Amino acid sequence: MTGKIDITELLKKCVQCGSCILICPIYRATGQEVFSPRGKLYYLKLKDALPEKFDDGELAKDYASTIFTCAFCGRCVETCSSEVKLTDIFREQRKDTVKLFPKLMQIEENINDEMNVYGLDNEMRSESWTMELEDDFPDIEDKIYSKGKTSDIVFFVGCLMSFRSRHTNVLKSIFKVMKYIDEDYLVLGGEEFCCGHPLDLLGKVEEADELRAHNTEVFNKIKAKTIVTDCPGCLEALRDHHKIDSSVRILHLTEYFDEKIDSVPKKLNIKLKYHDPCELFRNNKVIQAPRNLMKKIGIEVIEMEPSCCGGGGMLRVTNNEIAQDIIDQRIVKEKLKEEDICVVTCCPSCLEQFEQSGITTWDIVEHLAQAISTEEEK
Ligand code: SF4
Ligand code: SF4
Repeated sequence: MTGKIDITELLKKCVQCGSCILICPIYRATGQEVFSPRGKLYYLKLKDALPEKFDDGELAKDYASTIFTCAFCGRCVETCSSEVKLTDIFREQRKDTVKLFPKLMQIEENINDEMNVYGLDNEMRSESWTMELEDDFPDIEDKIYSKGKTSDIVFFVGCLMSFRSRHTNVLKSIFKVMKYIDEDYLVLGGEEFCCGHPLDLLGKVEEADELRAHNTEVFNKIKAKTIVTDCPGCLEALRDHHKIDSSVRILHLTEYFDEKIDSVPKKLNIKLKYHDPCELFRNNKVIQAPRNLMKKIGIEVIEMEPSCCGGGGMLRVTNNEIAQDIIDQRIVKEKLKEEDICVVTCCPSCLEQFEQSGITTWDIVEHLAQAISTEEEK
C-alpha cells in the first residue's frame, strides 16, 4: 500500500475486459455487476467525474455500500492482466466512506481505545486461555512477555485467537507442538496490539501504523529473530506493514512447523478437503508449506477451488447475507454436506466461517498435535 493513489490514472488502466467479473465471489453470490470489480470501477469513474454528487445523500450511501461489499479475496487483482490494483483502490475509497457504517466505526473505536477489535480490556488477551490451559502447561505464564524477558521466537496470537474460545484448542495444539520440538518462545499478552489489518480494511492506515509501531518496539525489546503467527491477516500486516528489521523472519505457523518437523511418530492416514485462506494463498503466496505439513502428518489433501469463504474484508459486518451466500455456494460447489469429509484450513477466520455454516473444520495444527501425541494423550 502506498500513499495517495492517483485514481484517475488507475482507472485509465482498466480496459473493461470483464475478466474480473465471473471470478468475483460477490458477483457470483449476487449476480449483479454493480458489485463486481469492474462494476465498482464504473461507479468510481462516475464519482471521479461528478464528485459533488457523492458528498452525501443516497448516491453516497449506495456507493459506500458497493465499495464495502467486497471480501478482499484479491482474486480480481490476480486475474487482471492490465495490473489494476483493485484492492488498493477499494481500500483507499473505504477511508472516506467508513463513516456511513456505525458498526465499522465501533470496531475502529474499539481498536483505538483498547488495541483489539472487540473493545475488551487488552490485558485480558492471554487471561482466558491461560486459565484453561494451565493444567496442560503449568509453565504457561512464563511464556507471556513481561519487561526484561527475551526470546528468539515470538508467537503473535492475533485478536481472533486471543479472545474467541473456539481457538483455545488451536492454541493448545500450537503450544503442544512447540513443546514437542523443544522450542522456547514468548507471546506478547497485554503488550500485543491489534496488527492493524482490520484498520487497513477501513482505509485507516495511519491509525494502523501507530499500533504497529508499538508491536515493533516490543519485538525489538524481546530481541525476536523469528515471528510466527497462524492468522493470515496478521501475517500480511507483520510482513508488509510493520517496520520490522529485515533480519527478522516472519512466518506463517505452517511454514514454521514445516521447517521444524520432518516426520511425526504416528501418521493419521485421513482424507480432508483443504481450504486455502485467500490472504495466505493469494496475498502471501503461502501455498506449499501447509500441503507439505499435511503430507507429513498423513493427511491426504483433496483440493478445492482456491476460492473465498466470504469471511474477509469485514463483509460479515457490512453485508452478512452476502457473506453467508458466498460460503453456502462454496459448500454446495465442493459438495461439503454430501460427502462425509471434513475441512481443514489454517486461518481462524476461515475456520469460523465454515464451522458456523455447519461444516466440521479443523486447523492443520490440531491434527499435527494429534500426530505427535502419545497413546495416553489421545
Ligand atoms: S480485469 Fe482488469 S482491465 Fe479487465 S475489467 Fe477487470 S479491472 Fe478492468
Ligand atoms: S477482492 Fe474479491 S470480493 Fe473483492 S471485488 Fe475483488 S474478486 Fe470481488
